[in-house]
Amino acid sequence: MKKVALYIHIPFCKQKCLYCDFPSFAGKEGCMIDYASALAKEIDSIKDKKIKTIFIGGGTPTYLSLEGWEIIKKSIIKLDVCSDLEFTVEGNPGTFTREKLEFLKKMGVNRLSIGLQAWQDSLLKELGRIHTIEDFIESFEMARDIGFNNINVDLMFGLPSQTLKQYIETLKNVIDLKPEHLSCYNLIIEEGTEFYKRFEEGNLKLPDEELERTMYAKTIDVLKDNGYIQYEISNFAKGNKVCRHNLVYWEMDEYIGCGSASHSYSDGFRYRNEENIEKYIKMMNVNNNAIVEKTKNSYKDDMEEFMFMGLRKSAGISKSEFMTRFGIDMTSVYGKVIDKYTSTGFMKENRESIFLTFDGIEVSNVIMAEIIL
Ligand code: SF4
Repeated sequence: MKKVALYIHIPFCKQKCLYCDFPSFAGKEGCMIDYASALAKEIDSIKDKKIKTIFIGGGTPTYLSLEGWEIIKKSIIKLDVCSDLEFTVEGNPGTFTREKLEFLKKMGVNRLSIGLQAWQDSLLKELGRIHTIEDFIESFEMARDIGFNNINVDLMFGLPSQTLKQYIETLKNVIDLKPEHLSCYNLIIEEGTEFYKRFEEGNLKLPDEELERTMYAKTIDVLKDNGYIQYEISNFAKGNKVCRHNLVYWEMDEYIGCGSASHSYSDGFRYRNEENIEKYIKMMNVNNNAIVEKTKNSYKDDMEEFMFMGLRKSAGISKSEFMTRFGIDMTSVYGKVIDKYTSTGFMKENRESIFLTFDGIEVSNVIMAEIIL
């Protein structure tokens, strides 16, 4: 039986962060129970697949009421899962209760991902986050106390008015708590967000490119000095605690998405679910599925995506894996691009693989554009 990853989307948030363009919504608490029931139906429809990882993301999954969790749990425990299942739930400080965390642990969750973003209350407020540093520390310690031994913390850099000193303080304080995994993303101003509006109006002061570059370089240095291995552009882990679920995306393996706005990649097809929560519930109740788009990836699409995603990984793209998948030598398709960027120091090539250098990551947008066939 095929082994796949499963993503489950919980679209509820207590408040919308000012930079966020994820399919998540505030003020929809009234839909939680109906949503959980619709989601349970979708999870029940998964047949003939063995689940190797589960990632419940959002939104803020820990904001879902316990009653909602009870409903989806009934479906989750019926899934056919691998014995070494990695089971992650995302959550935000201020939405954890001991009762909810203990419930998740009993359900089999063995990895938590906590959104912190920055160590300064002033910055958290400016981002529109609902929590303080104190809430974060309390949530983190509670999770440890309950027995979670695989925790990720999400951080951001390049924030409005953020200084290098503040960012280094953030890194160091988080490291002191010894999480197994860190994700460090630079802020991107996405269209449709409050930050985008302020930026367009000239009311958002962002760090310049040079400072952002320094912050990224610091991330790599400080984390390396503290025993974290960078395995992807923005992801760092201690020991073997890499996020196996995310590696499924970067390695273009199969995954199934359940819930509003979720995506699937299965048997060469890409699927997308309805994003609107009410419509999703209705579609699940009437049709027993909520797919609004289904496309067949062409041979070329697959090849490009394999390159895009693979170049995100520090280990890069395996030449033999490329050959196995596409039946053609990687250099005969991408030889020119590889030569161009290895000669300028943006890419490195060895017998087994190609990968981006630090400078290459900086210009990855340009490189990616040349990968399109
Ligand atoms: S908590 Fe996460 S998903 Fe929700 S609005 Fe903030 S960034 Fe977006």
